[in-house]
Formats: sequence, C-alpha cells, structure tokens
Amino acid sequence: MDDCLFCKIVAGEVPAEVVHSTERTVAFRDINAQAPTHVLVVPRDHYPDAAALAAGDPAATAEVLLTAAAVATAEGHDDYRLVFNTGAGVGQSVFHAHVHVLAGRSMTWPPG
Ligand code: 5GP
Repeated sequence: MDDCLFCKIVAGEVPAEVVHSTERTVAFRDINAQAPTHVLVVPRDHYPDAAALAAGDPAATAEVLLTAAAVATAEGHDDYRLVFNTGAGVGQSVFHAHVHVLAGRSMTWPPG
C-alpha cells in the first residue's frame, strides 16, 4: 500500500533499526520503546490486522510468531509478551499487521 508506514519500512523507504528478517517477515525496533526490548514484527505483505493476516496467509502468520520468538531469544529473554492490537479503540495506530515483542522488565496483568 502506497501510504502504509510499515510497507515503507519493509521496502527500505523509511529507515528503521532492523534486528531480524526472514522471507516473509521483518523485525525492527519500535521508535517509542516501552520496554528494554520492544521490537515490532511485521509480514512483508500488507494486511490491516492480525486476523486479516491469519485469514490471508497462514504461513506468514506462523513466520511472524516464530520471528517474534527468535527476536526474544536473540535478546536473551525467556519471558516476553506478544501483543497484537486490533482496532483503534485498543490502541492500534498503524494498520499493517504487527506483533509487539516486549521484554526486559517486569509487567503487570491486565494491561492498561
Ligand atoms: P500499534 O499502536 O499500532 O499497536 O503499534 C504501532 C507502533 O509503531 C507504536 O508502538 C509506535 O511507537 C510504532 N511506530 C510508529 N511510527 C514508527 C516509525 O516510524 N518507526 C518505528 N520503528 N516505529 C514506529
């Protein structure tokens, strides 16, 4: 999509600190980190949210989760939180599917 920020990061048109990439995914640090490790994992192809990704490309969905786990492991974390915000009402601000990988500090439940 022409006006999608994460499509532009995937294409290298917007700079980002990429920490991992695979055939179907790219992982890069969140510009506004909420934990010592805060990485976003996105599919290279555009889907607006996690459910659309799962319906449209199950292989890429699995690869997003495997990439998230690989990022956590590479950064030394056995414990980590994965978050898919879906919808503006719960905080989704970029409508290209992505999972937040958060780790490196204690966390409470439920989230705010
Ligand atoms: P959402 O709120 O949609 O679940 O997550 C979007 C995330 O993208 C936010 O945590 C936000 O900090 C991050 N973000 C927004 N713009 C940029 C950017 O230009 N570069 C990077 N690396 N992250 C961004």
